[in-house]
Amino acid sequence: MDIMDYNEDLASKWAETLSAITGLPFLLCREEKYTPSREEEGPLCKLLQEQAAGRVFCEQDCTTPLVQALAKEEPVYFKCYANLNNVAIPVYSDKASDKRCFILGGRIISSYADLAGYRGVAEKLGCDQARVLETAKGILLTDLNHFKVAMEAIKTATLYLFQNREKYKIIEDRMAKLQTMIKVVSSTAAADNRELYHTILNTLGVLFNIQTAILLLRDADEERFRVEEVFGYQKEALTDVKINGVEGLIEEAVKRNEVVSSTGLFDILKTGLPNGFTSVKIFPITMKSRVEGLICILDTPLSPEDEDLIKSFCRAVSVPLENRLLFLRRENFFRKGEAVLQALVSIASDNDSPQLFDVIIGRAAEVAGAEQGSIMLLNEETRALEVKATRGLNSAILDHVRINPGEGVAGTVLERGTPVVVSNIEQDERFSRPNRTRYKTKSFISLPLRMKERSIGVINLSDKANGTDFSDMDLKLLEILALYSAVAIERQVYYQSSLSLRKISITDPLTELLNRRYFEERISEEVERSKRHGQPFSLIILDIDNFKEYNDTYGHLAGDEALKNVGHVIRRCVRIIDIAARYGGEEFAIILPTTDKEDARLIGNRIREGIEGVTLPVIPVIKDKGKEAKLTISLGIASYPADASTIELLINNADRALYKAKAQGKNRVVLFGNL
Ligand code: GH3
Ligand code: MG
Ligand code: MG
Repeated sequence: MDIMDYNEDLASKWAETLSAITGLPFLLCREEKYTPSREEEGPLCKLLQEQAAGRVFCEQDCTTPLVQALAKEEPVYFKCYANLNNVAIPVYSDKASDKRCFILGGRIISSYADLAGYRGVAEKLGCDQARVLETAKGILLTDLNHFKVAMEAIKTATLYLFQNREKYKIIEDRMAKLQTMIKVVSSTAAADNRELYHTILNTLGVLFNIQTAILLLRDADEERFRVEEVFGYQKEALTDVKINGVEGLIEEAVKRNEVVSSTGLFDILKTGLPNGFTSVKIFPITMKSRVEGLICILDTPLSPEDEDLIKSFCRAVSVPLENRLLFLRRENFFRKGEAVLQALVSIASDNDSPQLFDVIIGRAAEVAGAEQGSIMLLNEETRALEVKATRGLNSAILDHVRINPGEGVAGTVLERGTPVVVSNIEQDERFSRPNRTRYKTKSFISLPLRMKERSIGVINLSDKANGTDFSDMDLKLLEILALYSAVAIERQVYYQSSLSLRKISITDPLTELLNRRYFEERISEEVERSKRHGQPFSLIILDIDNFKEYNDTYGHLAGDEALKNVGHVIRRCVRIIDIAARYGGEEFAIILPTTDKEDARLIGNRIREGIEGVTLPVIPVIKDKGKEAKLTISLGIASYPADASTIELLINNADRALYKAKAQGKNRVVLFGNL
């Protein structure tokens, strides 16, 4: 085998390796010419190349970038006629023969527009539509920038491999091992996360004779590193290990984004690993310049070459891992986003309801996955925080809680107007105090409800259902929720106070009927409405009979009680659309919309009988009067437009009918017109 064949063989293995690791098609081109209908090609390309025209276009479109890459001596990214994004990497330059080969591939779709474009091209070429759909369905969208970052990493690894020829021999047998293993694993479909993680670690484990290796990934909330996969000895013991990423080796690897190692027992234990390991080497896996994963290799000596190769490997696996993580996080984010959206909808639609606070705390707890929570509002008068609603807590305990601004966590959050996320209340120097026994975990979140520059309250949440700490993502989502909640609360407060103000301004305080001012407003509206719809309405004016005598007999207070009673009876006898008002001292007026005089008479009599039937308990002032008093009323009725063309005339005529009722002996209904 001459050196050229040897290198090409290696390059082809490398292309295969890249395909297996990234899950994307990569193929080796031995010259600057692309030949279609290749076995290693991806499903999207294969479909197009079933058509003669497709083969012509593909050959043309994938050959040009190879020529460009050759001229520039660096990778060329390009989007082909079918909207697929690709890369052509010149991987090998043999000075002696001046011969190069290329790794070509990717074939990713980065947007729905690309996908639609691809389908359009495929259909134009005459591909079967059903098959196009079927094939496109299995394609994951990949972010173009991520693709480029990953390709840069692959390029670096590739150049490293092919420029350090002396190392070929060292890695050749390992490459072979890698190939076999990847083939085995990829034949069992690497679509599932677990399998991907498993492949990654096993690849390393077998290649480098690793004793024990752990793959750590940031969890979906982007907070902690979690053990995702373990290879080798002590697998069981390591699966549930809680990794401490806050201080020590892990933190160092993450911060410096470099390989970190130690043989110090204390260092190893501090990471959270169990006793018994003597050395650790931590390799960061970087995505978009942030460390998202770590591979810890335990009790395994590694040569500098091994270390370099593992670093390249970490760069290469960042592609599929990132796809996986993005997918998981997007899912997680969408799930949470959905909850926030639903929460906002229910908060917005519940804004006049007395359950608003329950709704807010319930939704907030849901969004953050908290088992306990409370919402507190600043009482403007007492200037103290009061609990408005709770979730998972005994609200009776908190009912009497009053917290002053600046006091405790909630008071501090209110005063500063900034949220607080505490992962361990006992260790947090801001609030160092023992964990209250009513809380299960030591982590909680407290955030202000803000209106512009003012804090109007606080939302507190604790006890994440899954036992973890509250994350930045929880906080971000809750801040959106808090913003909307504050608006909804303010709106409710204003609405209610405006309601009660309005109520005060139109109500007669003694009888709780409407007052004369409101009556006057409404009667002119009623005239307009009647004119518009051509429907009559009636007016009853009623007056208590011999009320002066009643007052004299039982006293003024009893008189007031009697007035209240008359109010109750009237309210009971009229419809909700009728307007019953106290017109003057012991006179009342009732507007009956869409009611003619005869119907008004029925209602009038109902009220009259109602009052006649009421017995009022009284203490007589004059000795010979009984202890139970009776009242009667007289009523006059006039209708619009039958009896009057103006408001003044209508009131006047109803009054005249009332006068007539008094004259005829009281306790009766008289209709104007029947005078
Ligand atoms: P008639 O049957 O002709 O209506 O006789 P009357 O005694 O009811 O009529 P008059 O207008 O002479 O007396 C009305 C009395 O109603 C005078 C006043 O003492 C009493 N009154 C008016 N407003 C109030 C009130 O707000 N509280 C009480 N307790 N009495 C009131
Ligand atoms: Mg009177
Ligand atoms: Mg009277």
